[in-house]
Amino acid sequence: MREIIHLSTGQCGNQVGAAFWETICNEHGLDPNGNYHGTSPLQKARLNVYFNEASSGKYVPRAVLVDLEPATIEAVKSSKYGNLFRPDNLIYGQTSAGNNWAKGHYTEGAELVDSVMEVVRREAEGCDSLQGFQITHSLGGGTGSGMGTLLISKIREEFPDRMMATFSVMPSPKVSDTVVEPYNATLSVHQLVENADETFCIDNEALYDICVRTLKIPQPSYDHLNNLVSSVMSGITTSLRFPGQLNSDLRKLAVNLVPFPRLHFFMVSYAPLTAEGSQSFRSLTVPELTQQMFDPKNMMAASDPRKGRYLTAAAFFRGNVSVKEVEDEMHKVQTKNQDYFVEWIPNNVQSSVCSVPPIGLDMSATFIGNSTSIQGLFRRVGRQFTAMFKKKAFLHWYTSEGMDEMEFTEAQSNMNDLVSEYQQYQDASGLDDDLDYDEQNQMDEI
Ligand code: GDP
Repeated sequence: MREIIHLSTGQCGNQVGAAFWETICNEHGLDPNGNYHGTSPLQKARLNVYFNEASSGKYVPRAVLVDLEPATIEAVKSSKYGNLFRPDNLIYGQTSAGNNWAKGHYTEGAELVDSVMEVVRREAEGCDSLQGFQITHSLGGGTGSGMGTLLISKIREEFPDRMMATFSVMPSPKVSDTVVEPYNATLSVHQLVENADETFCIDNEALYDICVRTLKIPQPSYDHLNNLVSSVMSGITTSLRFPGQLNSDLRKLAVNLVPFPRLHFFMVSYAPLTAEGSQSFRSLTVPELTQQMFDPKNMMAASDPRKGRYLTAAAFFRGNVSVKEVEDEMHKVQTKNQDYFVEWIPNNVQSSVCSVPPIGLDMSATFIGNSTSIQGLFRRVGRQFTAMFKKKAFLHWYTSEGMDEMEFTEAQSNMNDLVSEYQQYQDASGLDDDLDYDEQNQMDEI
């Protein structure tokens, strides 16, 4: 078995994490107490990737829930699925990071991190063959972003050859009005560039727009946003949780999607997205799912893929769909839109099919794109960062926790570099490859 350890950190991380666990319990036939009532052997075949089997026969999430304040974890504990989690894997302090990355990373969080690492170590020791970690967190707050990235770096230090996947929620002023979020997010991206292998960028700006425009929810709540997140997380992890060949573990997924180690920030989308009430009037088809999946309106990052190019991509179809039809449709999209896929990585789009659909649907599709247009998201946060940093606004909240201004400058330039790298590969053509050996050498001399 190739186990994954999940970490939820901070308010957003725990709320999103709770939605994820509820969704996958349903898909695998587990009740809120972790007892199995499934109907298909497929539901049980790879349960051990995410769950430990207790001696009572119950399945317990291999999850560690972390926060600097009690409220969110207590809410999870008293929710319908509260009994699911192992009580000594819930670790919370009595303070708060107060939306301050420095408190999460250097002071309050640093005090709690050792007790979290003890639990992580215990979980890792219980694994047969640990494949890696996944974390849910927001980048805009203090705990999930500051302490979350501290945890990521501690885990990297202790488990350097295991995979680290992050589901990272990007801040948007449409959803939250805390002014320092661009600081927290930039400091986090600085960490994720170096210490994560795969980052699924979940952009609150895009989630909000999808809720309002497509799902016709005038004032979306976090529950509405998190429904979208849990659908897409369930889609992304399908190939890890159900039997199949393609992208069946975190490393294989990364090998296919990450051509350069720093460029591991993915855009994700999900189909179908349909307003409640109009669902029953639509019958789904593979062409329709494919069209929706590539539609900029379905992307959960507010940057338009048509403004960039895909370095790589993966599509996961679920339900009773024909593999042949999926292949044909995916091929059609690529042939029609050749300019949007870099030509210097042949066969850079993969698709796979899992016969188990998500609960309540006949079929669905999830898309992961490594698109150079993701730079738009970093540019947006970078602009907001720079506006404040130029005037050193709010910096004292960070320096009073012992942080050096230099770290802000470094984070800013690391994110700028990331943007330039995406741009460089967006502009790169395969032309060099067409030169013969001598010509290439001459070019190098010049
Ligand atoms: P932390 O507890 O210190 O990590 O802080 P939060 O997780 O509350 O971080 C604030 C950021 O997370 C803001 O950008 C919020 O909009 C976002 N956020 C908080 N809760 C949720 C949630 O449940 N879902 C989503 N999508 N975003 C959230």
